[in-house]
Amino acid sequence: PSMTQLFDSVVELDSRYHAGLYGRMKICLVKGEGSRVWDTEGNEYLDCVAGIAVNNIGHCHPKVVEAICDQAGRLMHCSNLYYIKPQAELAERLVRLLPTGLDKVFFCNSGTEAIEAAIKLTRRAAGKPGLIAAYDSFHGRTLGSLSLTGQEKYRKPFEPLVPGIQFVKFGDLGALSAAINDETAGVILEPVQGEGGIIPALPDYLSSVKEICEDNGLVLTFDEVQTGMGRTGSFLACQQLGTTPHIVAMAKGLGGGFPIGAMAASSEVMDKFHPSDHASTFGGNPLACSAANAALKVLEEEDLPQRAHELGAWALEEMEQIKRNHPDLVKSTRGLGLMLGIEMASEEVAVKVFDDCLREGILVNRTAGKVIRLVPPLVVTKVELSRAFSAIDRSLSG
Ligand code: PLP
Repeated sequence: PSMTQLFDSVVELDSRYHAGLYGRMKICLVKGEGSRVWDTEGNEYLDCVAGIAVNNIGHCHPKVVEAICDQAGRLMHCSNLYYIKPQAELAERLVRLLPTGLDKVFFCNSGTEAIEAAIKLTRRAAGKPGLIAAYDSFHGRTLGSLSLTGQEKYRKPFEPLVPGIQFVKFGDLGALSAAINDETAGVILEPVQGEGGIIPALPDYLSSVKEICEDNGLVLTFDEVQTGMGRTGSFLACQQLGTTPHIVAMAKGLGGGFPIGAMAASSEVMDKFHPSDHASTFGGNPLACSAANAALKVLEEEDLPQRAHELGAWALEEMEQIKRNHPDLVKSTRGLGLMLGIEMASEEVAVKVFDDCLREGILVNRTAGKVIRLVPPLVVTKVELSRAFSAIDRSLSG
């Protein structure tokens, strides 16, 4: 079939047989390399979405492809009933990259599972059920994670959710202190709210939250599913923000594109789990761990967190210039490393920018209605990012 027929047949199958949950763009991607992807029609795109902050080391990194192919030919899955060499090695590698104090790891398959594990561990460690989370947060779609997600549109249809969860304004220390009661076990926050619209924590907010937690015997979890794996300019965002939580949730970029999640904690907290308190059939399987070992090695060898830091600082200046060029259309620009957001004056403006970028072969993402989110692979070049910023600027001029 011609390329167009191929696209049409995919759309036909999808609309007939797949759940209609995704507002899909009229594109079917079939290939990726570095920061570029290609569709069934042979069109090339600069990928500033990166599978929503997943392909941090770029698409199809040859070292990860090799590790996956090699491991796939040996052993893809056994069970956590047995010791797993790539899993043990990944745990060691990850602990070395994590801030001091987070020295034990549990593996799962996604971000939401890492959060579920954190909820259970927090309850076990504190011996109580209550949790405090932030408005505009996003922690995932399973019922526990959804219960911690402070956005009505995701929660409302699925109530009743997990009880004992209170929401406070992100950045408001007084509200957090006031929300603590006898049943409170812990606090969970994203260092930079992602789906909520790229909202970095205010300076000193996280360290003050940690102090409040310590004073009240609460377990502090950072959800670094989106901010982690070098995205914000350090391996975890909390490392440059100077605060180490008791638990951290990771996923997205961890496997270099392969699905894997992890929850890390201090031994003191992790050891509160009793044997069999938690488990996962696929979590930490040989294939996923081999992919993650290779991906983390690339992240280190290519110094990608540092690259994200430098490119991010430059990108923020470029975005500020766009705002100065279009003060009526751009409300604010924000970011940390290569987790970038441009808040437009309205959803209409954001939709236009999104469409215009696509026409120029640049994939961007729209979140929180009017925020254009750019989370490109960390291997993206300045020249490539300049193309994206020019396209956004042109769109706002047109
Ligand atoms: N936590 C954060 C901060 C996220 O951004 C996401 C996904 O976007 C999740 C959790 C859920 O991850 P997953 O989709 O892998 O379950």
